[in-house]
Amino acid sequence: MRPPPFAYVKPEAVDEVLGLLTQYGDEARILSGGQSLLPLLNFRVAYPSYIIDINGLSDLDYLRDTPDGGLEIGGMTRYRTLETSAAIRDAWPILHEAIEEIGHVQIRNRGTIGGSLCHADPGAEMPTVVTALGGSVHLKSARGERKVAAGDFFVGQLTTSIEPDELLVAVSIPGWSVTSGGAWCEYAARKGDYGIVGVGAQVQLDAAGMVERVGLAVMNVGIVPFDATPFATPLMSGKVPDDTIIDKVAGEVAAAVQPNADIHATEAYRRHLTAVLVRRALGTAIARAQSKTGRS
Ligand SMILES: Cc1cc2nc3c(=O)[nH]c(=O)nc-3n(C[C@H](O)[C@H](O)[C@H](O)COP(=O)(O)OP(=O)(O)OC[C@H]3O[C@@H](n4cnc5c(N)ncnc54)[C@H](O)[C@@H]3O)c2cc1C
Repeated sequence: MRPPPFAYVKPEAVDEVLGLLTQYGDEARILSGGQSLLPLLNFRVAYPSYIIDINGLSDLDYLRDTPDGGLEIGGMTRYRTLETSAAIRDAWPILHEAIEEIGHVQIRNRGTIGGSLCHADPGAEMPTVVTALGGSVHLKSARGERKVAAGDFFVGQLTTSIEPDELLVAVSIPGWSVTSGGAWCEYAARKGDYGIVGVGAQVQLDAAGMVERVGLAVMNVGIVPFDATPFATPLMSGKVPDDTIIDKVAGEVAAAVQPNADIHATEAYRRHLTAVLVRRALGTAIARAQSKTGRS
């Protein structure tokens, strides 16, 4: 398979990329890890006249804590950097566990978080994790900069609200208190395959061990990540969370999702997996949060 012909440019600075995007608009495509763009070219799904390779932008490859206890990740940060970060593994298990489910190590060596978010595959882990954590993306163009919440960024299958002249420069995750815990639970037919369904949960407890904040999202049950956070309010009823409340939330999320049937799973199976994985992700996230409050 051969890609259609294109001109190749490799700028070394963000401003240079923004100038090229302004000049070429939707005739150009950004190349970051290439793990989705190259298949799109080879299958002739995308026909850009210009490929703008941003692998020279080392200043977009970073991971830093923010003053509110959150996280900022540069758009060119590779999965493997995140996967091997002890800080991410310890403080953000939801992110660490989700990344471990992405393809194989070769894919994770090249693929970037910015590329995954811009590609917006409903079966991809990163869009759902960023949704569950209440994160947002930073987009930059020659016209200026804007921050877009995950819920407004993913608008359809392989479709986001990014404009043709914009570059995703960073992803930010808001702070969660030290008494919070997270988890990612996924089912795939084989290790390395795209998941049939995945669920990310983040739960924050107060000093008395009550749930005060929850983030919950489901992968691959629709064309965009399903933000299930509103269904988690029963957990914040002022009682110590137990299996009965978790089962209620899991049942309501499973009833609300609108999964597709495909060669991998029926709609009913995806709904069933949703209930199982919501239960598992919330249970694990709560247990991890409780272990930090000494209440486990
Ligand atoms: C065999 C295989 C298995 C895989 N399994 C999984 C899996 O289990 N889970 C999963 O989530 N993914 C999987 N992937 C896809 C992989 O995660 C891709 O790396 C990811 O989807 C895209 O990231 P990238 O850096 O490679 O982006 P690229 O392929 O370079 O780009 C993807 C798209 O985003 C645009 N883009 C990239 N960066 C930016 C930016 N900074 N600003 C604006 N636009 C940008 C590009 O123009 C392109 O349209 C798999 C891929 C392969 C080949």
